[in-house]
Amino acid sequence: MKFKEPIYVTQPLMPPLEDLFKELELVWENKILTNGALKHQTLEARLAEYLKSPYLSLFNNGTIGLMTAIKALELTGEVITTPFTFPATPHMLSWNQITPVFCDIDPTSMNIDPKKIEEKITSKTTAILGVHVYGIPCAVEEIEKIAKKHNLKVIYDAAHAFGVEIGNRGIGTFGDCSMFSFHATKLFHTAEGGALTCNTPELKAQIDLLKNFGIQNEDEVSYIGLNGKLNEIQAALGLVNLKRVSEEWSKRKEIAKTYKDILGTIPGITIPELPAHVKPSMQYMVIRIDQNVFGRSRNTVHMSMKEQNVNTRKYFFPLCSNYPCYAHLPSSEKSLLPEANKASEEVLCLPFYSGLGIENTIRIAEMIASMRA
Ligand SMILES: *Cc1c(COP(=O)(O)O)cnc(C)c1O
Repeated sequence: MKFKEPIYVTQPLMPPLEDLFKELELVWENKILTNGALKHQTLEARLAEYLKSPYLSLFNNGTIGLMTAIKALELTGEVITTPFTFPATPHMLSWNQITPVFCDIDPTSMNIDPKKIEEKITSKTTAILGVHVYGIPCAVEEIEKIAKKHNLKVIYDAAHAFGVEIGNRGIGTFGDCSMFSFHATKLFHTAEGGALTCNTPELKAQIDLLKNFGIQNEDEVSYIGLNGKLNEIQAALGLVNLKRVSEEWSKRKEIAKTYKDILGTIPGITIPELPAHVKPSMQYMVIRIDQNVFGRSRNTVHMSMKEQNVNTRKYFFPLCSNYPCYAHLPSSEKSLLPEANKASEEVLCLPFYSGLGIENTIRIAEMIASMRA
């Protein structure tokens, strides 16, 4: 029953090479490889439209985008965030001399629990940084209410949430600013890349200044900026991939349905559900394994699947608040973060990409189902 060749957890969208060459012809003719040239401008416009966001700025990766958003919004002191995320989220706060204040998650959405945010607010708090984990939207309306009441900014790490919509509204339009990642492991990618979306032309102008060294014009450098520019070759790859992303999304939807049909009824396995008015991201196929009911732990399933040549990912494990660099923070105390610690022990991301095919999906799902003890 073991797979002969290793099955990976994901595989990037690989468009036909000739499509990329075609997209690059004009770049070669123009001999301009970066600094916001033609492909960069075109991709910004197309993505703003696709994500239904009024303003969008491309970046060389999502992490630098997040770093820039934090600076553009002039955050300082403390920012309330979730520990159930990728290291980039709290790291960019710390890198900006800001203390991440970890808040527990909601057990169902696995996103920052809006009921627990207010008790974390101090005189030093300047913002809330939510993460739409696995593309499941945060409680955006409750968060907005809390932010308004306490005069806080709101940033979202939307790295998992490409194309997510809440009742036709683009996920990147909530909060002051949202970050998307176009890393090769993401549904839509530019190999490395990312974007910030925001709702005002002033904020976009500030973001664009900061991502280009703070250079105002030939004669003036007005801010301490960095280099966040996406180059023309990456932008060309993005333009080619954007044409194929809907097809990849639809194929993944079928794979997700296949997994759900087989695993959704197994006692001890939970698959997160989305409200009907939310368009899903198809970024990850995550299950939660309750050892008490399933009879095997997440770690055992992860290891047993590896023996079958199937790679799964314990994503997110370890929890950010348990990294040595954050464990000393008062908000990292395990007893304050019971749901996040529990989720981190139970989640498992399964192989999920169009090339996996339905047959392999059935085989993998049945392998997992048969591990129940
Ligand atoms: C991928 C990812 C990032 C980092 O994005 P890069 O483009 O790789 O810098 C940040 N946060 C989350 C939740 C991610 O999944």
